[in-house]
Amino acid sequence: MKALFYMGPGKLELRKVKEPSTEGNVVVKVLEAGICGTDIKTFLRGHHLFNPPAILGHECYGIVIKKPSFIKGMEIGDYVVIAPYGECGTCEKCRRGLPELCEKKTYITDGCFVQYLQIPVEHALKGLFKVENPGSHLILAEPLACVLGALRKLSKARSFLIIGGGVMGSLFGIYLKSKNMKVRIVELSEWRLSFLKRMGFDAIPPSSLTRERNFDAVIIASTMEDPFTYLDLIRDGGYLMLFGGYSKNERLILDPFHIHYREISVIGSFGYGLKDFAEAVEELRKEKEIFSRMITHSYRIDDYVKAFDKAISKECMKVSLRMWEDEKV
Ligand SMILES: [Zn+2]
Ligand SMILES: [Zn+2]
Repeated sequence: MKALFYMGPGKLELRKVKEPSTEGNVVVKVLEAGICGTDIKTFLRGHHLFNPPAILGHECYGIVIKKPSFIKGMEIGDYVVIAPYGECGTCEKCRRGLPELCEKKTYITDGCFVQYLQIPVEHALKGLFKVENPGSHLILAEPLACVLGALRKLSKARSFLIIGGGVMGSLFGIYLKSKNMKVRIVELSEWRLSFLKRMGFDAIPPSSLTRERNFDAVIIASTMEDPFTYLDLIRDGGYLMLFGGYSKNERLILDPFHIHYREISVIGSFGYGLKDFAEAVEELRKEKEIFSRMITHSYRIDDYVKAFDKAISKECMKVSLRMWEDEKV
């Protein structure tokens, strides 16, 4: 089968490898996979979690082609969306309602830029979500699950300012708008701004942002050096969420006046719990049409160079890789 290997910064290689063994595993024929920010960062600069040669990719769906007979609730031929990881459900963090921080997560064994993906049974039992109508929008399940995980922590907010209108920022926007929340998105890239406007969003460049305190929550949906400059735009008692990642020893400057006298909370969010994932799959089913528009470019796995170039260019939203030529996806 074909598998796309990350061979070190700037290097990808499409290789032929042996198909995964089925013993004790579930095997899914991957139909389509999304290229995510993590894949791009790893490709450009390397990543401490991925030592080359490694297979990247963690957003995909496909067809179950093999499974041990004792696994119930799923048949060969079923379409499934794959959660790349899932919490244990019993550890101290899970019991405290922090599934995303579980220390005993189970995982898919490899990245999903492959034609067949083997999934250990213990993960398959909780990490596969059956769907009736397959389609490209399903590659958004993992990023949307992360969005829902973050919004769980902002349940009191009704008006949102989203900083960064890439895939994550747009997913926040689509979901919040569908729930009739007030949303404004700030984005630098011309291409993305015009895309967001076509999607019906109140989307503006940073230069057009007025300094009024209009929002219950500001979500920083990208990694930026000065997220706390937005504290000033949040209503008393509101929230600033750091959704984008920062490296370990980074230091940011914050004006504590907002925290004490205006009772603004600074909170973070990282990943999802399986409940968020299930909810994301359900949202995608209900709003298939609008979410499908987020897959702006799609390439065959053989055209991985073009696909990564496009994803890096930012003149796109989600870029997908199709694993098979014959499958209509
Ligand atoms: Zn992702
Ligand atoms: Zn746990």
